Amino acid sequence: MEHIHHSQQLAQPISWWQSILQYFSEADFMPHGHCYLWKPGLVYTHVISDFLIGTAYVAISFTLYGLVKKTNLGFNRVVLCFGVFIGACGWTHYNEIWNLWQSDYWYSGMVKVLTAIASVATGIYLFKLRHPIVAMASAAKLSEQRRLDLESLTRDLESKIEERSAAHRESEARFRQLADSMTQLAWVTEPDGYIFWYNKRWFEYTGTDLEEMLGDGWQKVHHPDHVSRVLNFLKEAWKKPEPWELTFPLRSASGEYRWFLTRAVPLTNSQGEIVQWFGTNTDIDEQIKIRQKLEKSQYDLQQALKARDEFLSIASHELKTPLTSLKIQFQLLDREGRKGNQEIYSKGKVDHSTEKALRLVSRLDRLIEDMLDVARIRTGKLTVHKERINVTSLVKDVIERMQDTFLSHTGDKIDFQVEDDCFAAVDPMRMEQVLTNLLQNSLKYGSGKKVQVALKSDGHSLTISINDQGIGIPPELQDKIFHAFERGVNANEVSGLGLGLFISQQIVKDHNGKIWVDSEMGKGSTFHVQFPK
Ligand code: ADP
Repeated sequence: MEHIHHSQQLAQPISWWQSILQYFSEADFMPHGHCYLWKPGLVYTHVISDFLIGTAYVAISFTLYGLVKKTNLGFNRVVLCFGVFIGACGWTHYNEIWNLWQSDYWYSGMVKVLTAIASVATGIYLFKLRHPIVAMASAAKLSEQRRLDLESLTRDLESKIEERSAAHRESEARFRQLADSMTQLAWVTEPDGYIFWYNKRWFEYTGTDLEEMLGDGWQKVHHPDHVSRVLNFLKEAWKKPEPWELTFPLRSASGEYRWFLTRAVPLTNSQGEIVQWFGTNTDIDEQIKIRQKLEKSQYDLQQALKARDEFLSIASHELKTPLTSLKIQFQLLDREGRKGNQEIYSKGKVDHSTEKALRLVSRLDRLIEDMLDVARIRTGKLTVHKERINVTSLVKDVIERMQDTFLSHTGDKIDFQVEDDCFAAVDPMRMEQVLTNLLQNSLKYGSGKKVQVALKSDGHSLTISINDQGIGIPPELQDKIFHAFERGVNANEVSGLGLGLFISQQIVKDHNGKIWVDSEMGKGSTFHVQFPK
């Protein structure tokens, strides 16, 4: 509202711009407060209201500016116009206050023009934008609806996941309970074979704990002789989606290794991919031991049958040789007797034949006696009757009895060094048997060289040593030759049943003594017999 109070003023001619300035000059107007008759109540009602309205407009326009900037909306034309419109509205109200005392009506009119332009422009733009705004509003509504839908869907999904994982946790707990109650050891692995869970039995048996097993505990439970075999097998087994089985020993908490049959099955998901392996170890130690025993006794049986057959063939050969000689001897006598050859009855011939026959018979007797001794040893019936005797005399007697044979075979008598009067509790017959056997061996395997015998007494024991310079015994046979039927030579080279040393060892053992050999191939052997006094 304008109140223009014209007061005529006459003046000299003026320039056009001066007239424009004059036209806009405030001199012609009186301040707006006059209209309110300077009634303070009314003036201040306007002042306060205009100030508040103006400030609110300015605040709104600033807020709009901030919002547009913050929401990245962009200052498009309608926003700009609206902002200017609101700002200008505020400005207009401040001008109202100003014009109460000052009469700048042209100036406030210009501001109103600006407000008018901005408001009209806003109105036009808003009208033009009505469709996009409606579309935007409905899109916003739709997107809000979608957001709500999505939220409820997410809630549904979350509760389903929670339900599923609760069910999963429950079934896993049940599985572990089941696996813990098994008598077997059990474990679960990652798809690559890394074991991350063991049942209680595993820890009870191995004496380990989870922390140890997740570290290098597995090295402790595997047998060092089997660990590389197991690892090589597993490297391949984890690659194939097939169940597998392997037998290997595992160390118990007490340090004992027991055999286990290990089985593992792959657990797959709906796509058929392996997600875990479930494995068990079943203690089969008893079965393995029974099987090993069975195999061993089967092997022993086969060996025994083989040895029996070999023995039968050797024994028959050994018995046959002196028997054939005897037979030939008697056939010769018989033939010569029939021919009436009186010479065979002569003293010299009879003695010769008798001696030869007796030698053959005693050889037969010794062979049969050896076989009987083996049978006695097997049935535990070989007995020794110990009596305290002078062992020195016994050794000397045996040597004396064999000197002729040695002389004829080696060209030398047995050389002996025996301590005087060594007494001990022995079975004289059996001890003689041992010495005879050892001396006969030194003759058989002594390459016709000198044989030496020594008897030594030290502290509580007596040691008889028989040394030859013969073929010697290879180191790998030095223990074996004391077993029954074991021979170090070919049956065709030197006759024998391979029983002498076996029987001798048994006799020496029955005297609480021991027998052993020191030997070097090609240089000779020394057999030692040691027994307590
Ligand atoms: P046998 O003489 O009938 O074979 P033994 O039990 O007396 O049976 O001897 C077993 C084996 O020990 C012999 O076959 C022989 O190979 C070896 N042996 C025994 N004594 C000697 C020795 N003095 N020198 C070399 N080898 C020997």
